[in-house]
Amino acid sequence: MAMLEIRGVSKAYGRTPVLRGVDLSVEPGELMFLLGPSGCGKSTLLRIVAGLIRQDAGSVVLGGRDISALPPESRNTPMVFQNYALWPHLNVAENIEFGLKIKKLPREEIRKTVDEMLGVVGMTEFKKRKVNELSGGQQQRVALARALALNGDILLLDEPLSNLDARLRDLMRTEIRRICKERNLTALYVTHDRREALSVGDRIAVMKDGVVLQLDSPRALYSRPANKFTAAFLGDADFPEAKCLRIENGVAVFGTQLGELRVRLDGQPVRPAQNDICTLMIRPEAVRTDVDPASVNSFPCVVRDSVFLGETTGLTMDASGFTLHASESAAPERRPGDTITCSVPPDAVAILPPDLHDVNVEQTAR
Ligand code: ADP
Repeated sequence: MAMLEIRGVSKAYGRTPVLRGVDLSVEPGELMFLLGPSGCGKSTLLRIVAGLIRQDAGSVVLGGRDISALPPESRNTPMVFQNYALWPHLNVAENIEFGLKIKKLPREEIRKTVDEMLGVVGMTEFKKRKVNELSGGQQQRVALARALALNGDILLLDEPLSNLDARLRDLMRTEIRRICKERNLTALYVTHDRREALSVGDRIAVMKDGVVLQLDSPRALYSRPANKFTAAFLGDADFPEAKCLRIENGVAVFGTQLGELRVRLDGQPVRPAQNDICTLMIRPEAVRTDVDPASVNSFPCVVRDSVFLGETTGLTMDASGFTLHASESAAPERRPGDTITCSVPPDAVAILPPDLHDVNVEQTAR
């Protein structure tokens, strides 16, 4: 498996820029996600790696070799598509062996590879079945087996699970991660589904408007986003504005609408100085409820709304005029008007610069 380097790749359709100087490296054996809202350029970037679209500027280097000018069939970059793109008139085995026959591999090798890949995706018993007699989930397994059989330098996946129902999606994403890790595959995986990216990826490149805004591990992106866009795209959060009052012992003390909040500086993307204005990020599951009013970072809240969701209950609360959301588990039923003392642990709050993401986009686009 090879390392992929995307260097300064730009692309415009007509006069509309779609990719604006994207740099991205995928390590050998790494499962890298491109995550972002629809239209941000993810598929275009993936197709440029596959050679299906030609970039206007920049290069694609795979395993140390510049493949920018090669046609798709010379790149060794098999791809799994959202709509499976299988041959409906061929059976499962014939679909998987199709690409191997084009490569003119020996017959015995083809047979062995097909059997092995059927085993990997759990479809051995469907070997002779016509693909149009399979469910969506089974068809996607065949499409995955077909791509794996080509033994590429990198596996490309373009929204491979979007046509499946929620339960099957959960199952398949675990399977895809298992297969990639067992076979030490380098993979580039496009999705707009944050749960897919968070649960499957080694690292995630968060994209917006043709640039990579932030690249990091799922946990780091979720708990320490560098900007408000990433924070909100990866999960629910509230963003109180805050003024840094002082720094003491590795903690920044902020004045906010919720009252004074102490935030640990360890691992924060932003190091505030006294009097700086920042935006804080508080995830609903980080809010503690029914705490001692004397505890650190505590403040009173009035319940406005409570939604029971099974494992958790979602609370919308008023904290001195600021709307704060909390996610509670195993808590008593709340009613509008109930007063609760809440707190946020100093290490569960992220410090974001105000409007950094806009600055970022402009700087990267230049
Ligand atoms: P994503 O995969 O993030 O949803 P795409 O890479 O598919 O985004 O598309 C990025 C932008 O480029 C979108 O605004 C889309 O409408 C536009 N686009 C994609 N393909 C073409 C094309 N062949 N011609 C013109 N515009 C295109």
